[in-house]
Amino acid sequence: MDMSDHINRTSLGANPAANIKRHMLIRVFAVILIFIFGIFQMGAKHSSCQYSNVNNDYFNPDKNVSLRQDDSKQGKISTEIKKGFIGFNNTKGVVARDWRILLVNRDNPIPKGFSVELAKVQGNVRFDARAAEHFNSLLKACREEIGYSLQPRTAFRSNGLQKTLYDNKLKSHMNRGKSRNEAERLTNNYIALPGTSEHEIGLAVDFNVLKQEFEETEGFKWLDANAHKYGFILRYPKDKESITKVKYEPWHFRYVGRTHAETMKGKNLCLEEYVHYLWKKSRVNSNSDQKQVLPE
Ligand SMILES: [Zn+2]
Repeated sequence: MDMSDHINRTSLGANPAANIKRHMLIRVFAVILIFIFGIFQMGAKHSSCQYSNVNNDYFNPDKNVSLRQDDSKQGKISTEIKKGFIGFNNTKGVVARDWRILLVNRDNPIPKGFSVELAKVQGNVRFDARAAEHFNSLLKACREEIGYSLQPRTAFRSNGLQKTLYDNKLKSHMNRGKSRNEAERLTNNYIALPGTSEHEIGLAVDFNVLKQEFEETEGFKWLDANAHKYGFILRYPKDKESITKVKYEPWHFRYVGRTHAETMKGKNLCLEEYVHYLWKKSRVNSNSDQKQVLPE
């Protein structure tokens, strides 16, 4: 046996076992990889599926979404809103087509590229030009019917002003010894983060006294009973705090248009609930091509 023979024999004798071992290792490794990849995928799906699937359903009129009776429960609504279920950011959605019911809150920031034409209205404040006439009619009617002068304290606010207000309030809480977290929590009760305030879209107005006492005035009582006739709603009612996530603000009214305002008033729905209600209705009507909310 010469040297080459030895080499051949060695390689022939040792290689099959080594090969098998190597193949086994590769297979085991591959199985582990597939397993890890699978777990990863499941995790990813679990954390994002609700949001993306929901939006797909929302955009897809052919897909049936079962509507359950408990959809109207407060907890569920706020959870769905939080998930971006029915926010205006769903720009292809039925609700989004109507500027009057643009939902702006902590979970639904003002859409990128949003712009609005403003008009000076009574009280020397600025409001969405499309609703300016209704704004003035509201004030006029209150004055004529009960002799009360509604004083708009603030209506449209720029993003810069909103930021200043927010920061000042935050600072004042911190100066009184509150921790950053506590100061934020207290500030968020009444002042929206810049980019999430209705005042920035020119459809909200604060009247007279920005205090709970406003509730006791004749002006508030009149607004509470009549504002909907002019397309306005009490935006943050006492019994809806858990949904709006904003404390009761008797002074803050929002324009949504007369048709919407009357329905909301009649059904006792806040804007979050109403948008959800329309969304459900659009699902029901999706087969009869009535997806669009009709203008008033
Ligand atoms: Zn306000």
